[in-house]
Amino acid sequence: MSVAVGEPVRRDRELGHEAYKLMGRLFPLCRSLTGAGVRETFAVLQERLPLIVTEVPSGAQVLDWTIPDEWTIRDAYVARADGTRVIDFRTSNLHVVSYSEPVRATMSLEELRPRLHTLPDRPDLVPYRTSYHERTWGFCLSHRALLALDPGDYEVVVDSTLAPGHLVYAELELEGESDDEILISTYVCHPSLANDNLSGIVVAAMVASGLACRRRRHGYRFLFAPGTLGPLAWLDRNRHRLEQVRHGLTISCAGDDGPFTYKRSRRGDAEVDAAAEVALRDLGVPHAVLEFEPWGGDERQFCSPGFDLPLGALSRSAHAADPVNHTSADDLARIRPESLEESIRTCLAILDVLETNRTCVNLSPLGEPQLGRRGLYRSAGGAVARSEDERALLWVLNQSDGSRTLLDIARRSGLAYAAVRHAADRLEDTGLVRAT
Ligand code: ZN
Repeated sequence: MSVAVGEPVRRDRELGHEAYKLMGRLFPLCRSLTGAGVRETFAVLQERLPLIVTEVPSGAQVLDWTIPDEWTIRDAYVARADGTRVIDFRTSNLHVVSYSEPVRATMSLEELRPRLHTLPDRPDLVPYRTSYHERTWGFCLSHRALLALDPGDYEVVVDSTLAPGHLVYAELELEGESDDEILISTYVCHPSLANDNLSGIVVAAMVASGLACRRRRHGYRFLFAPGTLGPLAWLDRNRHRLEQVRHGLTISCAGDDGPFTYKRSRRGDAEVDAAAEVALRDLGVPHAVLEFEPWGGDERQFCSPGFDLPLGALSRSAHAADPVNHTSADDLARIRPESLEESIRTCLAILDVLETNRTCVNLSPLGEPQLGRRGLYRSAGGAVARSEDERALLWVLNQSDGSRTLLDIARRSGLAYAAVRHAADRLEDTGLVRAT
């Protein structure tokens, strides 16, 4: 049976602009490992997607980890004696070290100095710092701003709470024709940083919207969870259903204009690995395919040996290699709606391959069947060069012995997956091949 899944993805710019607008709404929220910023992010996404939110209480054991206290931040500043704020959380949430414990003190610049984090080699940028596992507090500012601080006393305030609460993650479930599931995961724990990781949230959300109105062979599960602990908590609580996860992708850093990067699953030869490679090849976009390595993003958890899910990681500029990441320069100005649109389209193209890939059997394998009689071949003979359509028909007929998928055929032949799939559809319609 041929599965007519997926219409061509919209090529207009609307999709990219819609994604960019959503980023603009989510950008100011102060996300962290826990806390109101993550909940507010889910509330905005819930306006368009029926997310199910799960709360995991502080102190809960998830695999080898313990869920920490919840962090609530209301305000944070360093002010001169006259009340003028020289470092102010209200102007950017990057200014406070994420998970800072509360403090109210008057301190000299000298005493305060060890708490101030800057990037001396990039003096105009504010760094992003967290302290999830060690109780401390601190501020981040540009090195230039630090140098401009006068000696003397400052009022130092972090108005925060670290108390038992919850870590929250959100899921969107889209049912498919089978129980097989495709898992798409992105992390939600970075504050006002655009490419890393707001772009991943928005691209995943737009891909989910795009899939919601399509016919789906697979079920889909989108997971929006704070990095590391979120996937660990989800994996721990969903052990009974991991068998259903047939393919997976993590999405991150998807809004810059760098080339695509696909990092293979731990298995290295999962169907999603081949699907991503072929989809990127067919789209003709600049890209690199990397082998698996046990560092990077949340693929570390999904691809840990005890789970070993068939899940790869899709991004644009690689996270660690991008000097702008985890600084104030990762703002909305570096995001292009066109790049977001291209990332959404690329994800959907990979998923489209997974949706339609199948194994066929040639029902007339003794010699080439006569295609002209069945209206599958050009009527005028003599041309030397064969069209891609004709070559695809011959490839599908030749390779369809029940052991090779359409994706295998697209890889081996070098033909576009869409051409191979179209050929298989036509051959199925005329009864020359049958999907197994
Ligand atoms: Zn990051």
